[in-house]
Amino acid sequence: MRWISLFMAMGLVACDPYNTPVSEAPPPPEPDALDTISDLAEEELPDEIDWERNFPSWYAAVEPFRIIGDGPSGVYYVGTKGLAMYFIPTDAGHIIIDGGMPGQGKYVADAVRKLGFDPAETKILLNSHAHLDHSGGLAELKSITGAQLVASEGDQSALEGGFYLGSEDDTALNAPPVTVDRIIAEGEQVTLGGITLTAHITPGHTRGCTSWMMDVAQGGASYQTLFFCSATVAANRLIGPPQYEGIVDDYRMTFALTRDWTPDVFLANHAEFFGMAEKREKQLAGDPAAFVDREAFGLYMSRLETAFETALQAQTLKYNAIMEN
Ligand code: ZN
Repeated sequence: MRWISLFMAMGLVACDPYNTPVSEAPPPPEPDALDTISDLAEEELPDEIDWERNFPSWYAAVEPFRIIGDGPSGVYYVGTKGLAMYFIPTDAGHIIIDGGMPGQGKYVADAVRKLGFDPAETKILLNSHAHLDHSGGLAELKSITGAQLVASEGDQSALEGGFYLGSEDDTALNAPPVTVDRIIAEGEQVTLGGITLTAHITPGHTRGCTSWMMDVAQGGASYQTLFFCSATVAANRLIGPPQYEGIVDDYRMTFALTRDWTPDVFLANHAEFFGMAEKREKQLAGDPAAFVDREAFGLYMSRLETAFETALQAQTLKYNAIMEN
């Protein structure tokens, strides 16, 4: 069906709403504006994509650092320039959120080591969502650490099957399969060594997209810290047939659920979503609260909601035009 291949072609990018992978042309410039990928070339997805060539920032190393926290505790950045992964140490073992691209599990483990911790003491792996740029490194990270993977029911099949839900035939989007050891639902908590993270299912971007919240102490204050899953349209077909049943309602539920969220620290799984580089510069210049930014999440989400409705409208027009022919 032509409609399907058309949207497959729109679905080149797993998560990043900015970039268009191009197999022959030079890599695109780094993104600086929010966009959907509706203008992607209308061609079939290749069997393989040279991700590193198309998304060099996903592979550019960053010196790991602490984002916020007292002493050795808190939240650390163990991602790359473009992909954010997080490390949360505790007295009873450690927690890692996301594994980056396939092959980046070792990168994350090395980053943890650079911070002075032993990755083998990691007890829990969390995943924002089952797309290869965030789940691709989890299987490797699991074998390095022996940690348990905690994830939502909505993303379990994609994690364990190693596919992009609804685009199972697009092998370029595959990730190494990884077994989920514990399923969490909305509002459930993960506790380790006095640290508690609360899961909020914020579906749409994936069926089980999971945002995590925790309080971090620093300098006598407590900061509500959000690890937001994502709500970009990215590669998703919203209609005819949708990426998964109920996707449009899920996005709208997520926008409604998060509308009154005002986390002190807004973090996400792509560094540019929360201005990681700029905030890190402020931190290096001596501001210990460089990542505290209560405005950021609301502003970000209102842009995403507009982008979602625009993409839905564009996909609907395209769908109607095809169906009329
Ligand atoms: Zn994604």
